Amino acid sequence: MSDLTRLKAHEMAALLRAGDVSSVALTEVHLAAAERQNRALNAWLVIYRENALAAAAAADKRIAEARRGGPAALAALHPLCGVPVALKDLVTVKGGQATAGSKILEGYIAPFDSTVAARMKAAGAVILGKTNMDEFAMGSSTEHSAYGPTANPWDLTRVPGGSSGGSATVVAAYHSPLSIGTDTGGSIRQPASLCGVVGMKPTYGRVSRYGIVAFASSLDQIGPFARDARDAGLLLHAVSGRDERDATSAPEPVPAELLRLPSNDDEAASYLKGKRLALPKEYFVEGMEPGVAERVREAVAAMEAAGAIVEEVSLPHTDYGLATYYIIAPAECSSNLARFDGVKYGLSDRSSGEFIADYIRTRGAGFGPEVKRRIMLGTYALSAGYYDAYYLKAQKVRTLIKADFDAVWAAGFDAICAPTSPTVAFEFGAKMADPVAMYLSDACTLPVNMAGLPGVSIPAGLSEGLPVGLQIIGAPWSELSMLRLARAYEGITARAPWRALEPAELYLTDDPTTPSPIERKERLNADAPVAGSGGQS
Ligand code: GLN
Repeated sequence: MSDLTRLKAHEMAALLRAGDVSSVALTEVHLAAAERQNRALNAWLVIYRENALAAAAAADKRIAEARRGGPAALAALHPLCGVPVALKDLVTVKGGQATAGSKILEGYIAPFDSTVAARMKAAGAVILGKTNMDEFAMGSSTEHSAYGPTANPWDLTRVPGGSSGGSATVVAAYHSPLSIGTDTGGSIRQPASLCGVVGMKPTYGRVSRYGIVAFASSLDQIGPFARDARDAGLLLHAVSGRDERDATSAPEPVPAELLRLPSNDDEAASYLKGKRLALPKEYFVEGMEPGVAERVREAVAAMEAAGAIVEEVSLPHTDYGLATYYIIAPAECSSNLARFDGVKYGLSDRSSGEFIADYIRTRGAGFGPEVKRRIMLGTYALSAGYYDAYYLKAQKVRTLIKADFDAVWAAGFDAICAPTSPTVAFEFGAKMADPVAMYLSDACTLPVNMAGLPGVSIPAGLSEGLPVGLQIIGAPWSELSMLRLARAYEGITARAPWRALEPAELYLTDDPTTPSPIERKERLNADAPVAGSGGQS
């Protein structure tokens, strides 16, 4: 292998154990790619070169000792020992930043490790740095980051999706084989879809939220990005499981088989035989691009040809998903974000000398427009006169959405197959003037969060040269079987020509004349019609 960045994590694990490559060498090539290409992508908010190389040297020592200890000692090492990973910049790592894409957390240094970071360190994974994101994970394009947008390596004039756009991009661009994101309404699956990588939102409670900057606590889940299902299984395994520090984390056992998804394509594909897949008619939403619907239907047909039984089903309350999500998520965020008061964390404007005035100034300057919009919506929905009409009503509809899914599992289906995103990656600025258009990006993903279910988005070919994601949704705790289905689809499409394609404009990121997404945004703003001059906004 001439370019180590093209290796999957499981391939790195095998080479590391065999002593054919060192973690320091792997880390060095990934750091170099990240440092060279980040100007044109803006996917990393910080790269931890020194810490990463030190962690890699420590992993090399652990692996060398295990090699001396023999096969049992080697088998006891987690496969991620020595493997590079990236974290969304809302996952705390002791001594490092956690901006959550916001100015209000600028300068904050985490005094502790999140459980996710602690578990990755325990496994021996090498944390390369922190990735860009929509502010407080609110958005579907990463354009709401206070640190500028991230570009999609398939087309540098387009968004990578969001809110975990940086985490999806660094995996698509081969800066890291793996990354961590969070998904409240689609923020792992939608950017995975738009960047052509695998992204999984686990069952609510599978991964501890301790040390993750909260958005909407009843919906937030942490999950992996990877370039295939096997790698997603490795990272999910490393971070999952009960944690005393998160009361909502479940005691559900973490299946060791997550580490052993089949390597052989035919063996993987045979998992489809007799599996019952539901195709919900409501997920082929109005406004969906025909190319997206076609790729998804082709993927499902390919699984049927490989032995799956496919039936159309109805999830009748799907249509209410967006409206209820945009009551519940803002309500919870307005409460969670109350802690950013200019006293405890990050930005603090003390210029007036008066507490309430300073509080208002700090929040006014620290939060961006989308976050303010959500806080206002949420505060309104929770206010005394409106609580019953909005929040309580939305919670009741949430129960109906969950009941739709329950009926599918009760009918004996193994999984639901659907599009992840109604569109391929869209151009910078396309949805910034119209928040509802942006919100519609998650129409197919957010019901899954409302019901607390696991869902994975996997690449299913291209439309107009851009990646399309197939979403596989499962019953609670069925992550292993979702990843087996994902792996089966990889098996049946292993020789499809699109599998060999790399992100089309990745090569441009090495060119110093390529504009950065921040420069593109400045140009876009300069060209935008001035409000009141007849422009659309
Ligand atoms: N795009 C959705 C939102 O803006 C979902 C975001 C997420 O999953 N964090 O709320």
